[in-house]
Amino acid sequence: MTKPQHLSSFVNSSIVIQVTDAATPHDVDSTVPSALRSDLHISHQLFEGRAYAIIKDPLSLKYFRLPSEDLALASLFDGKRNVAVIRATFFQQQPQAALKQTRDELTERITRFANELLLSGFLEATAAGVRQQQKMEAARRPVVTPWGLFMKALFLKIPLFDPDPLLIRMERRMRWVWSWTGMALSFVIFLAGLIVFMIEWPRIAPSLNDFLTLPNLATIWALTIVVKVIHEFGHGLTCKHYGGEVHEMGAMVIVFSPFLYADVTDSYLFPNKRHRILVAAAGIYIELVIAALATLLWAISQPGPTQQLLFNLMLITSVWTVLFNANPLMKFDGYYILTDLLDVPNLRAKAQMCVSEMARKFVFGSEGGSAANQAILPQRRRGWFVLYSVAAQLYLLQITLGIAMIFHHLLMPYGLAWLGDWLGIGAFVSMLIVPVVAFFKKQLSAPDNTSHGRRRPWLMLGGFVLLLALVLQVPWPVKIERPAVLQPVDSEFVRAEVAGRITHIAVKSGQEVKPGDVIATLSSPRVTSDLRAAELRRERARRELDLTIGTAEPAAYKQAQASLAQAEAAVQEAQRIESRLTLRTTRAGIVITPDLDRLATASLRPSDAVCEIAALDPIQIYIPLNERQARHIRAGQKVELRVPAMPARTFEGQVISDTKTPPTRELPPNLVATLGGDLAAQPDAEGRLTPLETTYGVLVSLPNPDQSLRPGMTGTTLLHGPIQPLWRTALMKLLDFVSLDYRL
Ligand SMILES: [Zn+2]
Repeated sequence: MTKPQHLSSFVNSSIVIQVTDAATPHDVDSTVPSALRSDLHISHQLFEGRAYAIIKDPLSLKYFRLPSEDLALASLFDGKRNVAVIRATFFQQQPQAALKQTRDELTERITRFANELLLSGFLEATAAGVRQQQKMEAARRPVVTPWGLFMKALFLKIPLFDPDPLLIRMERRMRWVWSWTGMALSFVIFLAGLIVFMIEWPRIAPSLNDFLTLPNLATIWALTIVVKVIHEFGHGLTCKHYGGEVHEMGAMVIVFSPFLYADVTDSYLFPNKRHRILVAAAGIYIELVIAALATLLWAISQPGPTQQLLFNLMLITSVWTVLFNANPLMKFDGYYILTDLLDVPNLRAKAQMCVSEMARKFVFGSEGGSAANQAILPQRRRGWFVLYSVAAQLYLLQITLGIAMIFHHLLMPYGLAWLGDWLGIGAFVSMLIVPVVAFFKKQLSAPDNTSHGRRRPWLMLGGFVLLLALVLQVPWPVKIERPAVLQPVDSEFVRAEVAGRITHIAVKSGQEVKPGDVIATLSSPRVTSDLRAAELRRERARRELDLTIGTAEPAAYKQAQASLAQAEAAVQEAQRIESRLTLRTTRAGIVITPDLDRLATASLRPSDAVCEIAALDPIQIYIPLNERQARHIRAGQKVELRVPAMPARTFEGQVISDTKTPPTRELPPNLVATLGGDLAAQPDAEGRLTPLETTYGVLVSLPNPDQSLRPGMTGTTLLHGPIQPLWRTALMKLLDFVSLDYRL
């Protein structure tokens, strides 16, 4: 939704005041100001305890706010009364006004006011007034910069159609939604959704990691577009319900994604503050109801694409909405709700003015500031306004930098990552540096600066630079955060020695084993029949020996004895081979091969592996580092590891080796972006995942007495590097952000 401008934004413009300065007192009294346009819509509101009138111009569809007293004055403009008559009538109607201002003051106020109304296009005689106003605004538009154009392209607004008739028909059928029954019903749904969400949290939490993965982004994108259509209809219909008009809906292209928007500025005319807030809150409200419904359906649905879709819908309409739409730091719904709640229209502009007023006072030592500014700025609690403005600016910068990072990563495969980097630098310069420079330029060129006022900022600047130089010398530890994967220190495969089919697997994944423990048994008809045959041959040899005992043929006896011995040896050999059908481990450790069940009844050839057994204490972490990071690593440095499986625990270990090893040729699959990690890699001709960036692997040894860490787990490590001056750390961060490597 979009909101209106305020009269105050141009009441204070110098152009208006210059016009009145030209008038001389004696011919003023007889001037007849032209009449107030009769087609203006006027409504009344209370703001900050004062009565105000809101004027809607049906031609330009703009809204302006002015104090009720001014409206009383304006309504005396009928095209017949001259200034003297208007003045007399006004004093007659508003006797209290005579106490506050003299005759001359009121005369000046009337003439100035006549000019304001003329320039705003509110007076009858000036049919050209509206056009003139529009021309003035066009002339006042800031210079177009490439950066400005780019930002415009990022937040483009295209009006598409007039939804008023459609909304009238829809609202007529849905009127019950805004009744107490409708509210109560939605509250029940919302509460039920919230309870289910809390109960199901253990099931929801693990899936959160998959939410922002690349394959899911397309779903999120499509769902968000659909949800925002409902959201905007929420605004439009609520505005309609409370009597407003909605004459514009269209596409707002935010970062190249089309979102629907509804222009509900008409709600600004609502005298009832609650109605105005409801219009602003309707979008979030309907999304939270959708979130609750999605949660309930998700909880009862079966795993599959539908459940995945509901899960996405649930997160988009709750977390997403609260983070973006309800956040008052950006000019979305939350902001307008807040300004209505606080009765501070134009909160953002006022907060910005508070910041520059404060900076003026601080840097230039100037007191007060212009009277016009003093009139519209809050007199109390300015600190909050300053805080708000700073927070909002930093938040916007953060969001833009976030978008820049996304660009960086999305464009990296095409060698265009630098586009994202320049977007980030542009955001930084245009949001932080340009406003500060503009402020100083304006202040230094202001005519009312004394020589004292001119020296002060340079002294401040010098002091600031000195302070910054000192701060940058502060020793600061280098800390490097990287993804990592756990690996066994040494491991052994249990392999088949003879060909056979698995009949039984005696261990499970994760089981602890001792040397000699049975891992699996194989069956082999050939081995078994070889043994049977050998046994039969031995039997026959025995019988033959028995037969030769009675006869007087010593040669035959000797030969029978020899062949029995041979048969005996053959049986022993066959038994030895048969015993190899039982696979045993020769070392102590843990079975680390996952899902052994898939091997059940598998056929193995000699030297095929059944499973891997590794000692887990200590265990080892593999951390990939780029060249700049690797430079800081020395053996013995402390490393902290966190794994998603045990979010509450931090494991501590030490770097085993220096990184003066050759660059890594192959990355562990768990860390590669296409497989769920966050390193960019490409498979080479032999199918190895080679890193796109020069990468060094660091090995960290980690005690693991309770063996809760398992090989293959991924996690985040924090390397505690050497201590160096802060500026070096800052420079490293900057270089990391700009990532020169990608471009070379
Ligand atoms: Zn909204």
